[in-house]
Amino acid sequence: MARIALDIDSTLHPYWDLLQRIVLERYGVELPYEEQYEWGISALERDAVIHCVEESHSDDNILAGVPYENAVETVRDWHAAGHWIHVTSHRRAQTAAATARWLDRIGLPYDDLHCSFDKVTRCTELEIDVLVDDSPVNIVRAREAAQEAQKRARQQLQSFLLRHGRVYSGRSSWSLAHRRWISTLKFEHPAHLIVLQEYCQAVEDAEVRLRRLTDLIAETVRSWTMAPVVEAYQALRGVSLMAAVVFVAEIGDIRRFENPRQLMAFLGLVPSESSTGEHVKRGGITKAGNSRARRMLVEGAWAYRFPARVSRSKQAQLEGLPRTVREIAWKGQLRLCSRYRNMILSGKHKAIAITAIAREMAAFLWAIGQEVQPAHHA
Ligand SMILES: [Mg+2]
Repeated sequence: MARIALDIDSTLHPYWDLLQRIVLERYGVELPYEEQYEWGISALERDAVIHCVEESHSDDNILAGVPYENAVETVRDWHAAGHWIHVTSHRRAQTAAATARWLDRIGLPYDDLHCSFDKVTRCTELEIDVLVDDSPVNIVRAREAAQEAQKRARQQLQSFLLRHGRVYSGRSSWSLAHRRWISTLKFEHPAHLIVLQEYCQAVEDAEVRLRRLTDLIAETVRSWTMAPVVEAYQALRGVSLMAAVVFVAEIGDIRRFENPRQLMAFLGLVPSESSTGEHVKRGGITKAGNSRARRMLVEGAWAYRFPARVSRSKQAQLEGLPRTVREIAWKGQLRLCSRYRNMILSGKHKAIAITAIAREMAAFLWAIGQEVQPAHHA
């Protein structure tokens, strides 16, 4: 039987809507969901954020929470099956009484309740097996939104330049040389230069935001219970830190898939001729989740166009990992590099070859995932 830790806000009920409403009423500020990545919300002063969060955790507000559809039923099933439930919420200790009353009101069974700003320590003490929490996914998705925004800002700048017949002849866009080239552009009409500057500023803002989120993820993932899994996945070629984080955030514990084929099916990476009659565990992860993970694999698959080798930075990373993980990663690299080459040589379309590689990457990640355990098991 598992020891399950369960987050409340945004996990059991739609908390962000409430916080957003309070912020709007008090300060007239919109608070997009993407801001949740960092409690240093930029649109408000720190004190204002604290006030709003506290108000969101007033007795009345706590008691008014409406659980997500099926949330209570799901936890009841877990409890009935003998799992041990630890409810943990990032809120003041003084809110515990109201929180307990709310849990009774909605009829959620639990064995232990903890309200504090340090969930992780308590989970470690309790030897929790699983933490059900919205936050890593939130961070990963906020970063994805920032990535999209950067892409849009860049496209707008590109098409402005194109409209004015300015075509960059250099090799890669957004390189230093490309940026220097943009900064030297002259326009007859001064207004055009102002517009260009605005587009450039928008690109820069988007880039800063994306970098900030990327740094935040790199920083927080270290304290994450899934940190050893994130580390191990990166042993595989084509899996960057961000890719590993996205994969873990979207897939959760990979050991819930009995075999690689189940995982491939879940990711939508099973060839159509063999996908009939396949039983797939859905495990409560959304369709959007698995398409994100799939996209990550497909992006990473491009790394196998080049011959097998271990780069210096990868080598350093590999050193701390279990031998079995390193062996799987190396076997994967040898196989996938030659597989890609053979497919291209036999006339297969690049996109087909890449999808085939992505599918096999999933299998190797599955194998790696069997070898490592989340931190609290250590
Ligand atoms: Mg939460």
